[in-house]
Amino acid sequence: MSYSVRGEEPVVIEAFKVGALPEGSYDHLLEFLRLYRDALQMIVDRVWSINDKLSKKKLHKLFYNNLVSMGFRAHHAKEIYMYAKSLVDSAKSNGGRKPVLRKLSARVDRYDYKLDLDNMTLTLKLHNGCEARLKLVSSKERVEKFKGWGNYELVVKYDGSGFWVSIYFKRIVKVVKPRTAMSIDLNFDNITIAVFNFNGKLLKLKRFKTPHRKILTHRIWVERIQKRYPRSWRFIKSVKKAIDRHGERIRSISWDYAHKVGDLVAELALKHHSVIVLEDLEKLRENGKKGKRFNKRLGLWFYRRTQFCVEYEAKERNLKVVKINPRGTSSKCPRCGKKLAEYEHRVLRCRKCNFIGDRDAIAVINLYKKFISKYPRCGVPGVAPNAPKPNENPSGMQGKRDDAMKNTPTYINLYKS
Ligand SMILES: [Zn+2]
Repeated sequence: MSYSVRGEEPVVIEAFKVGALPEGSYDHLLEFLRLYRDALQMIVDRVWSINDKLSKKKLHKLFYNNLVSMGFRAHHAKEIYMYAKSLVDSAKSNGGRKPVLRKLSARVDRYDYKLDLDNMTLTLKLHNGCEARLKLVSSKERVEKFKGWGNYELVVKYDGSGFWVSIYFKRIVKVVKPRTAMSIDLNFDNITIAVFNFNGKLLKLKRFKTPHRKILTHRIWVERIQKRYPRSWRFIKSVKKAIDRHGERIRSISWDYAHKVGDLVAELALKHHSVIVLEDLEKLRENGKKGKRFNKRLGLWFYRRTQFCVEYEAKERNLKVVKINPRGTSSKCPRCGKKLAEYEHRVLRCRKCNFIGDRDAIAVINLYKKFISKYPRCGVPGVAPNAPKPNENPSGMQGKRDDAMKNTPTYINLYKS
């Protein structure tokens, strides 16, 4: 999947790869793929030897008639010379050798196929007026999401035993105009989610446990085994198997979790019309310290994976996602900006203004504040004139962790006091 921005509207592009069974004989299809490969090679050879920059117009002039006389349709010809040029360009810019094409694979323009997702059939227009009908082998569920998307190009392949088709689907993302901001803090034990309106009022605060401790247990097992068999572990079958088993568990736990969180977060954001505010993990690395909340043994991959799923699910629902440099968000006072000091377990206190708060809640408040100061046009910058006065001494945040979450002040003072 990829996102690209064309003009103002972001576009989501996703390839749908699926097995395809020819209905009836597939001689024509194989013949087409061979002809396509040979024609592509021929053009690659010609373009390779021409050292001038070739415009689209020039390519057309040089190769179009030739290709059409071989039996290709107009758009086949265009795909072939454009693809040949891109192959040569990328080989030359990498200092590589002239590309040699062995695989049977063809790019087909949208004008040269008919796709029927209801009946799961694909009709390809081939050379010399031939056609091939293919049955797409996939579950209805996998296809369902692409209905209503635009499809613009596909690649058909033969791998020696069967045919594969990758269809490229495209959808314009119409971004939902945000009415609230949802900031998300990821740390070792928890994911904390806070929804604010643009006046700084806290509408919702939620916390989920992460499976990090579980993952870490598997990680520790792997390390123990590796320590017991230094270097040679790769070559001992049973040892390698044990390590793979733990790796498999880590993968499935983390993906399961990331998908669930992504879905949950995006649903909540949709309900509140939120712009989703995430920490920019790249900036985190730049900042030097990963901070205590990111366990070194686990690295950043888990956080990245979770963010990826959140972003993916958000884009599926046309929600906006913004990334903010997390520097200072977990250590500075949300009220006056001074460095906070440890007060109790996971509770921090500001020595200057006496603010006391739960570590996770502080992080989401600060993230929200940073977002508002960076994107003031998203809402009303600062506190609205008629907003109630913020709680001057939110001492209710002391005590047990989840009491602290419940008692977080519902208004956050965006100005220094
Ligand atoms: Zn303070």
